[in-house]
Amino acid sequence: MNRIDSISGIRYYLGKYGIHPRKKWGQNFLLDGNILRKIALSCNPGSENLLVEIGPGLGALTKELAAISRGVLAIEIDSSLREPLAESLHGLKNTYLKFADVLQIDLEEELRKAFGLQEISGYKVCANIPYNITTPIIFKLLETCPHMESATLMMQKEVARRILASPGSKEYGLLTLTTAYYADVKYMMPVSRNCFFPRPEVDSSVIQLLPIRGKRVQVKDELSFKKLLRVSFQKRRKTILNICADFFAREKPEIHSILTAIGIDPRSRPENLAIEQFARISNILGN
Ligand code: SAM
Repeated sequence: MNRIDSISGIRYYLGKYGIHPRKKWGQNFLLDGNILRKIALSCNPGSENLLVEIGPGLGALTKELAAISRGVLAIEIDSSLREPLAESLHGLKNTYLKFADVLQIDLEEELRKAFGLQEISGYKVCANIPYNITTPIIFKLLETCPHMESATLMMQKEVARRILASPGSKEYGLLTLTTAYYADVKYMMPVSRNCFFPRPEVDSSVIQLLPIRGKRVQVKDELSFKKLLRVSFQKRRKTILNICADFFAREKPEIHSILTAIGIDPRSRPENLAIEQFARISNILGN
C-alpha cells in the first residue's frame, strides 16, 4: 500500500484509478504529512470522540483522524473516489464512508446511523473543505448541528480573514457576524499553497469554530435579525439610518431618534457596527 501523504502517493492513486482532480469539487489534495498530523491533532479529539470529516478525497487526513479518535464518518461527494479510498483506508475498522453531498444530508442522523447510536452526544468536525462551498458548509454546521463541539476547518486564507475580521475592516461582514452569532473562533495555523496537489492559486488557513451555548446575543425575532444582517451588508455603503428606514418601512426622523436613543450613530455604516448593536436595532425596531 502506498503512503497517501506525499506527492508520489497521490500520483500513485490518481494514476492507478484514472482520476483527474475536479476543480468544481475543490479537489486539492494535501501532500504534507506534518501538516496533516498538525491539523488532526489541533482538533484534539481524544480516543473517546467521534469525528466527522467533510471531503476525505484520497483519505490522507482521514487516516490521521482515525488513528487518534474513536471513529470517523467521512462524507465525500465524488463516488469515483470509492476505490482509492477503499485502498488507502484498508484495515481501518473505525471509519465509515458516506458518498453524498454534505449540504444535502442530515449530518447528525448519518453519524447516528454509522455508529449505531441511540442519541448523539458530542462530536467534532475536522476537514480540509472544498473552497467553493466554504460559506454554505459553515452555515450548515452552525445552524443545523446542535451537538457539534467544534469544527476545525482548513479554508482559503481570505475567507478565514473574513470570519476573524474586526469591525471597521473591509473583510468584516455577514460571514463574520453569522459566525460570531453562533461560535467563538480561533486561528490555528497558515498552510501554504505548496502543500497541495494540484497547487491552488491561494494560500490557506486552519481555524476552529467553538459553538457557544445559546447564542451570542438575544434577539426577539431570529429570522428578521438575520435578514437585517444580510440586507445591511448588501448595502454596505449606505448608512444604518437609510438601511433601517427601508428595512423596517418607517420614517427617517423616527428611526433617527430611536437609533440615537440606543446609542447608535445613525450615520454609521454596517461595517462599523458590532453584533450587539445589530441585535439592539432588531429588537427595538422589529415587531
Ligand atoms: N481531505 C482531502 C485532503 O485534505 O487531501 C481532500 C480535500 S479537497 C480540498 C475537498 C474534498 O471535498 C474533495 O475530495 C471533494 O471531492 C470533496 N467535496 C467537494 N464538494 C463536496 C460536497 N458538497 N460534499 C462532500 N464532499 C465534497
